[in-house]
Amino acid sequence: MPLKEITFKEWRSINPLKGKWIGYWWPGIGYYKILRGRSKEAREKQIRLILNDDTFRSTQRTFLARFTFIALYVYNELLRSKAERQLDPLEKTWIQAIDHATKKKLTKEELLRIEQVSAHLKFQQKKDKIEPWIQGKVKELFWLWLSRLYSGDVVLRECAAEDCIRLFRPSRSGDGKTSQIYCSNQCRARMAERKVKAIC
Ligand SMILES: [Zn+2]
Repeated sequence: MPLKEITFKEWRSINPLKGKWIGYWWPGIGYYKILRGRSKEAREKQIRLILNDDTFRSTQRTFLARFTFIALYVYNELLRSKAERQLDPLEKTWIQAIDHATKKKLTKEELLRIEQVSAHLKFQQKKDKIEPWIQGKVKELFWLWLSRLYSGDVVLRECAAEDCIRLFRPSRSGDGKTSQIYCSNQCRARMAERKVKAIC
């Protein structure tokens, strides 16, 4: 699994446009980064690996934060691939299930997959306490994560920029003026520029 836990300082130093890392944070849980493949081929290979072979392991407490990062990364990469090639059945399932869960409209098959996913819960003795862990293949734990998305434990939103369809997790929620509606500073800046042009 290419996900790495990092410090706040390291997270601040990641440049989303230039560097090879993508940074991510979750309030109260931590900062993470993922290595992004340089070429299109490298990224496709990486996504295939995550979907088919990768094992995911985290404490129960950090599961949602960590898996959301993976799920968003794969989802957005697949959206990009979708414009250029046919997605395979597993990839299609992943995209559709996330779309359905964010719209609160899962199919019968998807609900069944959620019911079938075993907890993959393990317990580990750490010093004087026992800590619950979750471990399993990404493609199986996906359904466990999807149930959390479906039940609203995590909220994802589609970017409001008209030329961007990426999903992201808003750091500020709600529908007020301060809510985050763009996936990135790049999208926000691009849209602001367009508004100015439209007025002039
Ligand atoms: Zn965007």
